[in-house]
Amino acid sequence: MSEEEVIKSARKFAVKNALDYGKARPDNVINKLFVEVKSAKELGISRIKEIVEEVVGEVNAMPVDQLRKEAESYTYPERPERVGLPKLDWADGVAINTRFAPNPSGFLHIGHAKVALLCDEYAKMYSGSFYVRFEDTDPKTKPPIPEAYKAIIDDLNWLGCSISGVFRQSERMELYYLYAKRLIDEGSAYVCTCEQETMKKNREEGTECACRNRADDDNIREWEAMLSTYGEGEAVLRLKTDMKHPNPSVRDWVMMRIIDAEHPITKNKYRVWPLYNFASAVDDHEMKISLVIRGIEHEVNGVKQSFFYKAIGAKQPHTIEVGVLKVRGTLAHKSDIIKAIKSGELSGWDDPRTPTVAGFRNNGFKAAAIREYVISSGIGKNPSYLDLAKLTAFGRKQEKW
Ligand code: GLU
Repeated sequence: MSEEEVIKSARKFAVKNALDYGKARPDNVINKLFVEVKSAKELGISRIKEIVEEVVGEVNAMPVDQLRKEAESYTYPERPERVGLPKLDWADGVAINTRFAPNPSGFLHIGHAKVALLCDEYAKMYSGSFYVRFEDTDPKTKPPIPEAYKAIIDDLNWLGCSISGVFRQSERMELYYLYAKRLIDEGSAYVCTCEQETMKKNREEGTECACRNRADDDNIREWEAMLSTYGEGEAVLRLKTDMKHPNPSVRDWVMMRIIDAEHPITKNKYRVWPLYNFASAVDDHEMKISLVIRGIEHEVNGVKQSFFYKAIGAKQPHTIEVGVLKVRGTLAHKSDIIKAIKSGELSGWDDPRTPTVAGFRNNGFKAAAIREYVISSGIGKNPSYLDLAKLTAFGRKQEKW
């Protein structure tokens, strides 16, 4: 074995790793390298690390086209194709209910489709129900688009999801108020009237504010004032978590806040809206969800929500956070797509150049191919780029991207 052999192998796997995940990671490359060059250890682990880090640095600076070209010159070991999703070792024979919880502030992206299909597959595998829950309780920063509610259901039906029920959080507001009141009465939640800056500083320093230790009656009066007289930004409802939690964002997170904006469904009926963590946890509990599957960006939210379950004395559902599925060379963010539609650059959310489910459909992809693709990619945490060649192999009809 020569050093050159190790460099060559590192380069080969770094190129593949960068193509699969956007950036190559030394750990991944080292693992592959040891399988290919059995005697690599003779060089010593510190030298190998040096080599791999240097190679990874070079490869991560290369443009995608060049990576693709170089990858064609290598032969990679065949990965055994996975049949079906991994079994859940905690499943004990009872039905497993899942939910897909999109924000109707845009249309379904292929990354959302991945999460929805995983939820639908697991509900099918374990004879449970698959629910759709529209998370539409932020009329200001994530204003719902009225047509999106139907379009999302149409997309899910097209993807072959078996929907057992559809819920809209904006129509479940009374439920959040009930939980809020219960948590206030039990001393687990409090109205905080600190300035945003003060709240931030207290969080960073792990300091409790005076609002947290207000007398119960005063706290109830403050809640009533929050519902009636306080204005936007003047008061929020916080859950008592742990002001010394290692992650400052977990410290007494905000459950509800006042928003002065009209909602397309409830109009001006409500001013005090739940934030994602509160509404999501209440609903997962009320809807008897046993498995939550969501994007990896929600990892800390799982920790935040654990405090809600502790406060109500219930068990948190099993949760799987999966890596984001992205599409190279297309607009990834809702806001960019909206801009491009407005400027006429794209014909709409279903323009074949958008990475939306409707875009894929209009491009000739089959729903069954997308499902197969998602199942074969599994439930890992690494982000990945859509591999069009693989999707094509699963049954794509046209070549238009
Ligand atoms: N509305 C959230 C999202 O689209 C849902 C996250 C979850 O499934 O809990 O990211």
